[in-house]
Amino acid sequence: MALGQRKLRSCVVLLIVTLFVGPLYAETNSRLFPETGWRVAGRILDFWQANGGLPVFGLPLAPAMVGDDGLTYQQFERNRLELHPENAAPYDVQLGRLGDAMLEQQERDWQYEPDEQLLSGLCEEFANTGRQICGPFLDYWRSYGLELGDEGISYRESLALFGMPLTGTQTETDAAGNAVVVQWMERARFEYHPDNPVPYKVLLGRLGAELSGEPQGLPLPAVRILPDTAIVQGHTTIVEVAIADATEVRGRLGDVALTFMQTATGWRALGAVHALQPPGAVGIVVEATLVDGRVTATTTPVQVLDGNYPLEQINLPPAVTESIANNQEALAEENATVRAVWPNFTPEKYWQGPWVMPSEGRITSLYGPRRSYNGVPATSFHEGLDIANAVGTPIVAPARGRVVLTADNYVARGGTVILDHGLRVHTGYWHMEEVLVENGQFVEAGEMIGRMGSRGMSTGSHLHWEVRIGPTSVDPTEWLEREWLSE
Ligand SMILES: [Zn+2]
Repeated sequence: MALGQRKLRSCVVLLIVTLFVGPLYAETNSRLFPETGWRVAGRILDFWQANGGLPVFGLPLAPAMVGDDGLTYQQFERNRLELHPENAAPYDVQLGRLGDAMLEQQERDWQYEPDEQLLSGLCEEFANTGRQICGPFLDYWRSYGLELGDEGISYRESLALFGMPLTGTQTETDAAGNAVVVQWMERARFEYHPDNPVPYKVLLGRLGAELSGEPQGLPLPAVRILPDTAIVQGHTTIVEVAIADATEVRGRLGDVALTFMQTATGWRALGAVHALQPPGAVGIVVEATLVDGRVTATTTPVQVLDGNYPLEQINLPPAVTESIANNQEALAEENATVRAVWPNFTPEKYWQGPWVMPSEGRITSLYGPRRSYNGVPATSFHEGLDIANAVGTPIVAPARGRVVLTADNYVARGGTVILDHGLRVHTGYWHMEEVLVENGQFVEAGEMIGRMGSRGMSTGSHLHWEVRIGPTSVDPTEWLEREWLSE
């Protein structure tokens, strides 16, 4: 039978299929605000979130910085948050007195500001400054506050957020040229917009932005993939990013981290789509750090196309089933050792040109078929290319690389070699009769690394050849057809 014949010269290695989740490059308890490109982290972020967030403080306008007074602070559109680590939470974050600072910048002494009240309604007097807050401004002042643990919103919580009134009300011209009734507080400027719907009749002035300048437009990374505009399951791709003035580009394709290298034309990373990744859209997330420290991020959907890989029913010979059952521990250790190699990153591309076939012989199994063993639904697939020939047939390196793992006789893989070709591209050679290289050794394209055999869980003399990009195995034939990442 044809199927039986093929099985005879094929891999029966059961490899666990895992989707590798790349390292999260965003630190924990940190949030990037893509509108302005700045990140807010730690206690300042906690405080920002716990006390009203965007409507109260606005967006970050700069990174957290250390001022002349040694305090760490971060400027937001409507305020400045300062860290006072000597205090216990929630008093370890305090608001800058931007109302006061703004008046001072305009050379206005608050004590000589008019004391008029243009808004009618209930008033409250603040003895320390001798000013009143009245009507809708008082309602607003009392409706918001820092969360200091009091029930509802207490006087001291509102005071901590806005401070005391420094002026009476007066009509001023806002940035858009409109006449607006305003009142200055220590930490805020209240603005009355009677034509707005509730609850927008009272708005807070953007004091942070007025003091430190409006946020600049943020350029977005332009992302495309090569050589095709979609990626087939189990195939290799290049992710190319164009962004001016970037010092670093990071990203991921689906859940797998991409490592970008700067080239003459932009930034490039090798990527791959797992053979079992469902067809449909997958996101390429790209984050670039600009020279001024801002971070710009974008998510680009790309289509994953069905590889149309066949389903293979494989009946494991009793000897193999037995060997698996009897060698659980050794198998687990072998798999862990091999898997630990894939994430290693060498920041150099060792290969040049298309690769050469590592062995002569007959292709007995292509990359990609889903495999059902002994009738159990398929959860794995064939992660390499099988080339069958006589025991002892030479096996050569398909491209320049460094030997990073050898084993004379692994339980599943038999005689094993793994080569590192740089940029997180590795190749694996299983079931060898003889391993002819040593760890750390460099080999050139075409240089012999071993001899074909049927060691490990194999049912006939053949080479199982695997190509990995990071943790993801890909179809090796694509690497024979073209040079990946050629300039
Ligand atoms: Zn194989």
